[in-house]
Amino acid sequence: MSDSPILKVAVNVPLSREFDYLPPIKGPEPLVGCRVRVPFGRQQQIGVVVGCTGQSDVPTNKLRRCSETLDASALLSDADLWLIRFVSEYYHHPIGEVVAAALPSHLRHGKSLHPMVERVIATDSAEQSDADSLARRAPKQAELLESLLDAGGDGLETDLLTELLPNWRRAAKGLLVKGLISTFETRAEAFDEHITGEKKSGPPLNSDQQSALSAFRSSDQFKPYLLDGVTGSGKTEVYLQRVNDVLSEGKQALLLVPEIGLTPQLVSRLQDRLGVAPALLHSGLSDTARLAAWRAARSGTAKLVVGTRSAIFTPLKNPGLIIVDEEHDHSFKQQEGLRYSARDLAIARAKHLDIPVILGSATPTLEMLHHCRSGSFEHIILPKRAGGALPPIVRLIDTVRTPSTDGISEPMAEAIRKHMDADGQVLIFLNRRGFAPTLICNSCGHIAGCERCDSRLTVHAGNRQLRCHHCGSCRPLNEQCEECGELVKPLGEGTQRIEETLLARFPDAVISRIDSDSTKRKGAMHEALEGATLGHANILVGTQMLSKGHHFPKLTLVGVVNADQGLFGTDFRSSERMAQSIIQVAGRAGRESRPGEVLIQTAFPENDFWRTLIDGGYREISDNALAERELTRWPPFTRLALLRSAAHKQSDAHRFLEVAGQQLARSPSETIRILGPVDAPMARRAGRYRAQLLIQSSDRATLHRLLRELRPFLESDPSARKVRWSIDVDPVELF
Ligand code: ADP
Ligand code: ZN
Repeated sequence: MSDSPILKVAVNVPLSREFDYLPPIKGPEPLVGCRVRVPFGRQQQIGVVVGCTGQSDVPTNKLRRCSETLDASALLSDADLWLIRFVSEYYHHPIGEVVAAALPSHLRHGKSLHPMVERVIATDSAEQSDADSLARRAPKQAELLESLLDAGGDGLETDLLTELLPNWRRAAKGLLVKGLISTFETRAEAFDEHITGEKKSGPPLNSDQQSALSAFRSSDQFKPYLLDGVTGSGKTEVYLQRVNDVLSEGKQALLLVPEIGLTPQLVSRLQDRLGVAPALLHSGLSDTARLAAWRAARSGTAKLVVGTRSAIFTPLKNPGLIIVDEEHDHSFKQQEGLRYSARDLAIARAKHLDIPVILGSATPTLEMLHHCRSGSFEHIILPKRAGGALPPIVRLIDTVRTPSTDGISEPMAEAIRKHMDADGQVLIFLNRRGFAPTLICNSCGHIAGCERCDSRLTVHAGNRQLRCHHCGSCRPLNEQCEECGELVKPLGEGTQRIEETLLARFPDAVISRIDSDSTKRKGAMHEALEGATLGHANILVGTQMLSKGHHFPKLTLVGVVNADQGLFGTDFRSSERMAQSIIQVAGRAGRESRPGEVLIQTAFPENDFWRTLIDGGYREISDNALAERELTRWPPFTRLALLRSAAHKQSDAHRFLEVAGQQLARSPSETIRILGPVDAPMARRAGRYRAQLLIQSSDRATLHRLLRELRPFLESDPSARKVRWSIDVDPVELF
């Protein structure tokens, strides 16, 4: 026993434990929730004090001391630490890595909560300099200088410059020598919650929206709601009114949106209606901007916090409400490292904070519908589109019996022409980017495959490349077969090819392709969506990026090309997913006064799935799927965890999972079923062999008990050294 307390510190290392340290000799004693710098092995690490104890398993004379206390007061509150601990326990993930995921990068790296930032400005002599001659001699320097001159007296933050002009530092050197720019340090800009202008009022709510709002108003305490409203039913209007209540009580609201749901349209809608600027947290921010938003949420300056997945970790001074919009969206689940679901954490966090949580979707997941049936969620339905917009009419086009050219059938082409002539906008949806998904040889049948993955290469016509969508490797596109030298031909359609087909067919149309290839450049996505919203493009061609939550006022026709992939999927979630993506994209049609039409090209028009979808909608699809899952004992009727491994040698990947399986079998349980190890559905990816072990349980407690015992065992087992492995609790992708 020693007099000074022993600190439990979470350090960012892949070990499921906390580390004991003595307080530093100098400076203030670190409180729980503060960051400390600690010696770890031979290095220094940043950690967070997550607890205090009088005793340690480490003998007192072996205990090391923290080197430094980084925060004078707790950076993370008890509620924040609760969430971190919960995540670590629920996802069986090392607490130090959870802390790292929860903190903005500046804080993770030990910077102060109010860091100094470097700014660059153009000097007075820059004004008089000869811009033309500079542009000729050093175009990069000229470009940088022009940005700085435009920015005026405050100049630009280095973070922002890195975003605008990635290699600006080299150009800056030249300009510094010439005395045309200078740099200085200043406090990072604070978040400003105020915006000028009046709060605008929205449309009067219809009776369904009104009853939804009354239900939401019935509780200030923990209560989960599912707002199950068809696309365009005015869910956002209801959230807005409820958020408005919460803000006027002086509390904060946290709104989580899917990865690309955070559009300028949404932000300006929130601003106009609520009269405050939301603090935004998403992956596109600079580290400094992210920290400013995080700080404002933590101090309570930001009343409304809007963000994507990781925003669920944002500290809130005075939380009153959490909303998860489009709860079915897969981007809420992190697919690597700490595999958490922000949607599920929203529920857990709201429960701990004792505040309501609203999940909204037109296509709710079966998990949430199951909660409604069992009575643990309140199910609120908005059955109709708001403001008199009609539901779109959905029809199938049989691609076997109708003629088509390069992926676009005759009836589809005619409909496109008709809608364009009536000044309507058209959206063509398909879930494949690139030109064609397969390159096949006409004579020997050879298919171009990735050397590092078990996958086919996608043809990208623009830069004449074959690219692997799984590992990113690429090689030049050849006219001749790699095997036999005969001519090869791209098979099937990707967004690029459809764009080309449409351009040939409708030369007068403005066509805008929106997928992850066309929107790589920073800001390109926002520009494309803005153009689509304003109606500049006649035809939009895109992947599921285009299907999410957008409101394109002029859009009247949605065409789904290549709809069949999901019909015969092997994953137990295939039909749920397929219904979600079709209904979401269909929901973009006819959201205002003009009625919408949806045409779906399929080679299997007789398939039951289509009849159910068209006649019964998502309700019937989800009812059927729930009944089926109950029968087959899949989630939400059972719980899953997936143990994954990847190694250079297939036998190592399997061996590790066999060891895990044997360990699990040591504590047999009636409620547990272990499936595998088997090869992953894509058995080789980026040069590594992948395998998996599925653990299924009819009760959550047993599953977690097993995983709790398994994790430390695996961390120390020699078989783990040769593999990369992870535990995925509640996996959404089974591969
Ligand atoms: P959702 O979030 O369900 O997709 P939104 O709230 O975005 O729906 O509403 C869809 C469209 O209907 C928007 O243009 C919105 O302004 C309009 N709207 C919503 N509620 C009403 C209402 N009660 N009366 C008239 N228009 C409405
Ligand atoms: Zn590959």
